[in-house]
Amino acid sequence: MRKIIVIGAGIGGLYAAKPLSEMGYQVTVIEARAREDLGYPWYDSVAPTTFKDVGLDVPSDSVIPKQVLNYYAPSGEGKIKQPDRAGKSLDVHREKLVRYLLSRLEPHCTLRFNERVKELLIEEGAVKGVVTDKESLRADLVIDASGLFSPCRTATPDSFFMNDPLHENDYIVAYREVYSREGGDKEPRPNVYLYPVDLMLAWCKSEPDMGGMDVFLGSYEEITAEGKAKALDFLHAHNPALGDKLLSTRKECVPLRYPLGVLAADGYAVVGNSAFMTQPFCGSGIEVSLKAASDLVSVIRELKEEPFTAANLWKYTVLFVKRFGAYYAAQYVFRQAIEALSPEDLDFIFTSGLFDKGIVALATFDKDHIKDVDFRGFFRGFLAAWHRKDIVTTLKSALNRAVRAYLLTRTLPAKYDREKVATWKGQYDSFMRSAAGEIRQAYLEAKK
Ligand SMILES: Cc1cc2nc3c(=O)[nH]c(=O)nc-3n(C[C@H](O)[C@H](O)[C@H](O)COP(=O)(O)OP(=O)(O)OC[C@H]3O[C@@H](n4cnc5c(N)ncnc54)[C@H](O)[C@@H]3O)c2cc1C
Repeated sequence: MRKIIVIGAGIGGLYAAKPLSEMGYQVTVIEARAREDLGYPWYDSVAPTTFKDVGLDVPSDSVIPKQVLNYYAPSGEGKIKQPDRAGKSLDVHREKLVRYLLSRLEPHCTLRFNERVKELLIEEGAVKGVVTDKESLRADLVIDASGLFSPCRTATPDSFFMNDPLHENDYIVAYREVYSREGGDKEPRPNVYLYPVDLMLAWCKSEPDMGGMDVFLGSYEEITAEGKAKALDFLHAHNPALGDKLLSTRKECVPLRYPLGVLAADGYAVVGNSAFMTQPFCGSGIEVSLKAASDLVSVIRELKEEPFTAANLWKYTVLFVKRFGAYYAAQYVFRQAIEALSPEDLDFIFTSGLFDKGIVALATFDKDHIKDVDFRGFFRGFLAAWHRKDIVTTLKSALNRAVRAYLLTRTLPAKYDREKVATWKGQYDSFMRSAAGEIRQAYLEAKK
């Protein structure tokens, strides 16, 4: 019987384990933490059809209607309502989701908790298993679902084309906290702030289970006690329902990098945060981790008795790039414009009338809200923004590079050829890494 090891109870790995065991593989999931510590004690949002698309019948008590967010400029002004796919988006409870995914695995798979994978077992250039803090285990395929700080991926040999190191700005450090809620029964508005008070992102919305307020503070740098106090003061000033009493706190990291170029090697595949499968704007990675895992399963199904070579698993990378990777690469590049602009510039963009709910709906193909486009407002905003050469030049530079990123990403070889893959991967990384500097340079020159 062929063996598959899943490293980490990441949601993509947990999802894939069930169909793989049904195909007759002996599947073992190895998770560093205790079973009761898995998942996150909060709700996160997912697109409406995510679970249905991958055939998951998530229990109804783990999902609630999504709190549709209001986005604000760094100053706290200039609201843009998030498009909501016809009001059908969901918030899913992260602990309940993981519990459900684990329950599907028993008794088909072996689950090993409190066991940390230290490294991959590599023989003759191929992965043959893992070494944990308890023992060595052999497998025909290792699926790495161990998250952003995977100890295995970054240590893979150069010949895998997968060992990209973590750079500054590839992820944000985030505090997710629940505070008491003030005021009467009126439902507080769910508010998100871009680049406020030296952070990258902050939000304040109601927390349904504890009856408190759900606070997110995310930054590229460690958030000091002083920085946190300043951020909370800002949130208090804009959110009257936010109380002072801290009910729970947790610190996590969220990847915001462009996706990893190559997703599989001989005997090894990555899924989820370990391959930066998050939206480079906001770090939403539940949907894409599940869908990528579903694609990996379909590629493995097609392989039947064939070995898990890099060439045989290449289709997994191709499917990912076509479905998500190219688009996320473009998003990542476009975000570099927002990173380059100053908070004052962003305030201007938000308050000029350039964006409204309808324009955002148009840009995100949200049919149900396109009727809300205020074309006159957009035209006024467009004229106002046109006089801001610095902003226009930066956005043009980013848009141009975002389109090129999309097209370049999609030039990946259709069939695995080591030399062609090496060339494509080199071009992809070099383009993605240089885009930020070039966009920043365009901004600085236009500012002169
Ligand atoms: C604060 C916050 C808010 C978010 N909001 C959203 C949102 O609204 N929508 C959305 O779609 N996504 C959101 N995300 C992102 C989402 O959580 C992830 O993208 C998604 O869960 C995929 O992550 P993962 O399962 O690959 O990795 P992880 O969730 O990091 O899981 C990895 C697992 O591997 C285990 N592990 C690590 N190292 C080892 C080892 N050496 N040996 C064994 N086990 C190991 C870990 O203990 C962990 O259980 C958010 C994330 C955070 C932190």
